[in-house]
Amino acid sequence: MLESLVAEFSLKRANPAKNPWVARAREEKQKVIGCMCNVPLELLHASGILPVRLLGRAEKLKQARAYFPTVFCNYACSLLEVGLEDWYAALDGIVAVNMCDTLVHVANAMHGVFSFSFFHFLNRPHDASLESSFEFFRHELEKLKSSLEEFTGTTITDSNLKSSITLYNENRLLLQRIYTCRGQIESPLLTALETATIAYTSQVLPPNVNRDFLKQILKKTEKRGPVAYCTGPRLHLSGSTIEDFAIFDLIEESNATVVSDDLCSGQRFFMRLVDENLPPMEALTKYYLEELLCPVMHTPGIEDKRLADIQELVFRNNVDGVIFCLQKYCDPHQLDLPYLQQQLRSAGIPTLNLEIEGEIAKEQLRTRVEAFIEVINEKGR
Ligand code: SF4
Repeated sequence: MLESLVAEFSLKRANPAKNPWVARAREEKQKVIGCMCNVPLELLHASGILPVRLLGRAEKLKQARAYFPTVFCNYACSLLEVGLEDWYAALDGIVAVNMCDTLVHVANAMHGVFSFSFFHFLNRPHDASLESSFEFFRHELEKLKSSLEEFTGTTITDSNLKSSITLYNENRLLLQRIYTCRGQIESPLLTALETATIAYTSQVLPPNVNRDFLKQILKKTEKRGPVAYCTGPRLHLSGSTIEDFAIFDLIEESNATVVSDDLCSGQRFFMRLVDENLPPMEALTKYYLEELLCPVMHTPGIEDKRLADIQELVFRNNVDGVIFCLQKYCDPHQLDLPYLQQQLRSAGIPTLNLEIEGEIAKEQLRTRVEAFIEVINEKGR
């Protein structure tokens, strides 16, 4: 059954200490490293490491707030919180990255509080258009490669790296096909919750296991046929990481459905592929510097590329409205918001901004979501 297959790969895998593939890797003496977002996982994989994305969690923070100012987003703070609750006991180390200022502080705290045998801080430029950016980032990736080689005692050859890039690209392509099952056709073959769970867990499974899992899902999806489909508005979710999937229930209870997204915990990390025709280190530098359209980047014109991505997804998936689901206190996303909203609205696409902080305050958000859906219905689809 597809449902049980997806349930088996459920959100609890976000905890490395409960992830059976992490346990298996450790039994086989394979090293396991937790990674913040936009870390070139291919490099870790090519050195024989199992990389797992650090996804945080939604539950109320009990300890981490003591370490940070109150204006840090829940997602970033939860990365420390779960470590304080021993989620990272099964990890050999962490690769942190300066995506935003908040994550830099969280990385510092993690480095100070936990004793890992490996800790690497990856510096990335935030403007890909500067002449020096490519060389600088390429140099940073070389430094990461050397630290991994020293830690594992394994040389990362071009051939190993190419194989890892191919494997991760296969995963990206399969995820794109899964998303097509949800959004493009009149009768979706997967629900929004199933699709989000698959995208989420794809970040914490070994890529070869995940590739087989995605193939099984696609086979079973076609066999199962269309899922019961709501006739209400089709929505696109845009934003950062969503740790509480109750948002999907809330939207469906309001007689709408999510058919598309460009979330960091969703489609943004597999919308494009690493170029397999370039030398591997060059391909990774280009991809992680230029192709991941995260709002932390300040490359001139990047907001138009992000807008174009959203518009393309809106068009391709026949979307009626866009909900921005942003972490409270997330400056990079909030700074992009007015421009994106204004452009989408002037193109006739209704938008709603929901600020989230950990667990969804379902009843508080319900009135706003229902009102938004009413506006779309009145406007006529
Ligand atoms: S959600 Fe925003 S503030 Fe939080 S870690 Fe991501 S980019 Fe930084």
